[in-house]
Amino acid sequence: MIPFIVAIDGPAGSGKSSVSKEVARRLGFGYLDTGAAYRALAWASMNDPKLSADNLADPGFAQNFDYSISTNPADYWVSVGETDVTDAIREGKIAESVSKVASIPAVRAFMKAKTRQIVDEAPFEAVVVEGRDITTVVAPDAKIRILLTAREAVRLERRSAELLGANSATVARQVLERDASDSKVVDFMTPAPGVQLVDSSDLNFEQTVQTVIGLIEQGSSKDSND
Ligand code: C5P
Repeated sequence: MIPFIVAIDGPAGSGKSSVSKEVARRLGFGYLDTGAAYRALAWASMNDPKLSADNLADPGFAQNFDYSISTNPADYWVSVGETDVTDAIREGKIAESVSKVASIPAVRAFMKAKTRQIVDEAPFEAVVVEGRDITTVVAPDAKIRILLTAREAVRLERRSAELLGANSATVARQVLERDASDSKVVDFMTPAPGVQLVDSSDLNFEQTVQTVIGLIEQGSSKDSND
């Protein structure tokens, strides 16, 4: 059976990855981090000349990108070929280069198809899929669609706290530049029609998780009453 999708979008530092993973864990759903695929491709592009930025414009690049990711929220890993890249894709140099890779039309088309394939093959009845264009492009028909945001100052503070030891001015510059570049490609700052907005600025982690679970339960019960 094809799993049902809970689609969650949001900007960097909105908490969407940690919240989506925890919601999936508590509900027994799968979890798919779609940003990891863009990050893994940016990583591969630095390490394999066949995946250089020029070559990514040709949809044939996909033959040279052997990507896999876990959909189990309790056991998260990402790999390219035989290499585990779970930690490598979180490095600052990836954050600096990923938006360019994500702006290439052939890359976005590949990612859309790949995301759907991973969801269809996931061994769960439902999957929480998080990213930037899930509610609008990848799964616009999903029963539950949420845009998770937070005020800019809050997002910058959270990102700085996550990247222990990093210079907060550098982190702020990286986050704002990345959001500005990504926003040119997809709108993940304002909810599309039918997408529910959750502003987590004044919510702690637990309250945000509960809010999202509440929306999923509401959406699911509406569905069963139809
Ligand atoms: O979510 P995360 O910060 O890991 O995403 C990394 C990058 O992947 C984003 O900055 C964006 O360029 C790209 N991305 C995207 N569409 C998605 C998910 C991520 O363009 N659905």
